[in-house]
Amino acid sequence: MNVPPAPLSADPAAAVDWARVRADFPVLTREVHGKPLIYLDSANTGQKPASVIEAVDDFYRRHNANVSRAVHALGTEATEAYEGARGKLAKFLNVRADELVLCSGTTFAINLVAYSWALPRLGPGDAIVLTRMEHHANIVPWQLVAQRTGATIKVAELDDRGDLDLEGLRALLTPEVKLLALTHVSNVLGTVNPVREICREARRRGIVTLVDGSQAAPHRPLDIAAIGCDFYALTGHKMSGPTGTGVLWARREHLEAMPPFIGGGEMIKEVRFEGTVFNDPPHKFEAGTPNIAGFVGLGAAVDYLSALGMARIEAREQALLDYATAALSAIDGLRIFGAPKEKAAVISFLVEGAHAHDLATLLDLEGVAIRSGHHCAHPLMQHFGVPATCRASLAFYNTFEEIDAFAAAIDKVRRLLV
Ligand code: PLP
Repeated sequence: MNVPPAPLSADPAAAVDWARVRADFPVLTREVHGKPLIYLDSANTGQKPASVIEAVDDFYRRHNANVSRAVHALGTEATEAYEGARGKLAKFLNVRADELVLCSGTTFAINLVAYSWALPRLGPGDAIVLTRMEHHANIVPWQLVAQRTGATIKVAELDDRGDLDLEGLRALLTPEVKLLALTHVSNVLGTVNPVREICREARRRGIVTLVDGSQAAPHRPLDIAAIGCDFYALTGHKMSGPTGTGVLWARREHLEAMPPFIGGGEMIKEVRFEGTVFNDPPHKFEAGTPNIAGFVGLGAAVDYLSALGMARIEAREQALLDYATAALSAIDGLRIFGAPKEKAAVISFLVEGAHAHDLATLLDLEGVAIRSGHHCAHPLMQHFGVPATCRASLAFYNTFEEIDAFAAAIDKVRRLLV
């Protein structure tokens, strides 16, 4: 398949020309309201490099066919490209390809575990442990499971800095707990949770673990095997891939034991009215025509991120985060939410006297795209006693100059509002 080359040498020692990297992202050259776009909403969705856009375009122009069905050349090419993406993801995440279920995103992945793993296993007297900092995608499916099974939900709380209260969490891991589901990185506070240590503790107590990796996969080197969880969910659009792509990794023994979630074509070996034989995992969980072009694009995104190097991406984003934290801290009346020990490049903030949405709307007029609202994390907002915050989320394609302009724009807008 004609996928354009990744932008950099794979040599980890090679210096990165970040201006050149930024030039790979076509949307970053546009203007908004007559001002250069400053995109600070990558935790919401990541921008796409030209190689991803071109891979999707190339698929539809030259190779478009359905997967796993037709013996003709295009059918074979499409299948190879789709399965090739699975292989690239497996390498990127350090897991086996046959343990990766390709799906539409984290929300689907967590629901798959909720319906196929939890629903048949949980009952009255069982408990699920979540944390206060979960995205609604890692809360609501468990509430649905709890309602239908009679299981209860227990919540691990945070300390003043926005770190998980690890002692409190340990105390919650009692014998009735069957599942612990927690985020790797908070989409609101940027808190990086010590998931390896937590999953080890849970495993020792026989508790199954699910990690929501939506905000980790785009920003740091990932080794799912080393984390030692049972399930790991992530979403492709936050890691420079197309929307409608995502992954559930699960231990093979779970995938073997779990019944299918959605039924239809592709997930079967043989269908008879007397009874159907399901396909082997992971295909057992991939009913219907998948988002083939999307996964071709996600494969290109993985190529791109791998060539850049996740360690280099993490270091670049830490430098941008430190710079932005200092710049925002210098603004009168600006409060940053959370100061966790280890933090990804996400800053939630409010300016005294200004409503989050007003601030974000006026910043948009300055060309600055941030998110305002509850960030799909109502329980975390309740913890801080606010209905909404502003959130600036950075990625490696942002620049220090953009942060200067962002801070200046907040200062300007603040004077209008307060
Ligand atoms: N979990 C976290 C931590 C997120 O940040 C998000 C997206 O914002 C999700 C889950 C849901 O991802 P998706 O909407 O792609 O399914």
